[in-house]
Amino acid sequence: MKGDMYLAQSSDDAILKKSEHGGVVTSLLKFALESKRVDAVLAIKARNGNRYDGIPVLITDPETVIETAGSLHCASPNIARFIKEYLNGAFDMKIAVVCKPCDARGIIELVKRTQINMDNLTLIGLNCTGTLPSAPAKRMFHEEFEVNPSDVIREDLEEGKLTITLKDGTEKQKDLDELEQKGYGRRENCRRCDINIPIMADIACGKWGTDGKKATFIEVCSEKGSDFIEKAIEAEYIKVEKPDSRAIESRKKRNEEEILLARKWQEKDFASLREMSTEEKFSYWLGEFSRCIKCYGCRNACPICYCKDCILEADRGIVAPGEIPPDVIFPMIRSVHVMDSCVNCGQCEDVCPMDLPLARLILMLNRELGNIFKNEPGMDVNAPIPLKSVTDKELTVADVEIQF
Ligand code: SF4
Ligand code: SF4
Ligand code: SF4
Repeated sequence: MKGDMYLAQSSDDAILKKSEHGGVVTSLLKFALESKRVDAVLAIKARNGNRYDGIPVLITDPETVIETAGSLHCASPNIARFIKEYLNGAFDMKIAVVCKPCDARGIIELVKRTQINMDNLTLIGLNCTGTLPSAPAKRMFHEEFEVNPSDVIREDLEEGKLTITLKDGTEKQKDLDELEQKGYGRRENCRRCDINIPIMADIACGKWGTDGKKATFIEVCSEKGSDFIEKAIEAEYIKVEKPDSRAIESRKKRNEEEILLARKWQEKDFASLREMSTEEKFSYWLGEFSRCIKCYGCRNACPICYCKDCILEADRGIVAPGEIPPDVIFPMIRSVHVMDSCVNCGQCEDVCPMDLPLARLILMLNRELGNIFKNEPGMDVNAPIPLKSVTDKELTVADVEIQF
């Protein structure tokens, strides 16, 4: 049932051997396909074996799911948008989706906007403490770890350290904070991310609480997830035992440590902006926005931007065609349209050719709104969309100051 926890391991020796932990996620994907519970599974795979180029793959052959075993820390494909754009929102296909917390949250926001059909999805969530931008990660491995990036076969982000494993089995470790102070390490949005266990998915899988054993810690987060796990256990795709209180406590403690670290980054990233006067804030953001080349990349990547007929298109008469930088109304409208539901996925910032700190601005606005509406985007398909649910009475409450 929802809330159950397991320490689990794949029953398939080949999967277990290839996996970094218990091989449970790969075995669950295989079970989902072989039991015909789903038509396909969506996971991430290294393109042509290049671990710096992880791509989403839709798999229907159970024998090939093993190709997706293992973690790819230098991959952050846009899973929610991929389902909406390329898989017809899962309206005509049942799919098991491997997803990080921000992927699952993006999916939930698109479900709320009727762009994705949750009835056809099973979300297999992965604990996540961050992904590394691929080109800077290669540079970091070369310059800081003094290794050839193509020799790296595994990365681990654990307890404030980044550990890499090389082809010859040697390991090298560096302090993550030190790397991040130098501008390396995780994507900026990941540093601020304080939702690391995907409890909004159907099941949450990870290594916290496994105490170094080759196992996966599973938390069942929905009735759909419960049925899925129970059937996979009955069919002997995975072997499970109940975690003891020490394992549960250790997982909880690790999660709390990550949340604290993320909150520190949020403070650091937001503090200087909050301390500015209103004039200074405007001048700062206008300076940033003046670099925008109106490529529409941020709008096209954001899972919350779903309008088919976008008001920012030139033919809608709001933003003049052919004007670079665009009128400041362009980034302002986009920010306002998504700020109540931003899931901090960082996809906007990843694609921005001008390196605008878009996720920082929009998350900051989102946090202020979240305090007012008591809303955490992407956690519950039944939660209202705040700025679509303001009543006339609420509109008269004019003394709420939003800091940005
Ligand atoms: S935003 Fe959070 S969930 Fe998403 S990749 Fe970064 S750390 Fe992981
Ligand atoms: S605004 Fe950026 S960080 Fe927020 S949901 Fe959209 S793409 Fe993700
Ligand atoms: S991605 Fe960057 S440059 Fe392109 S429209 Fe968005 S803010 Fe402007």
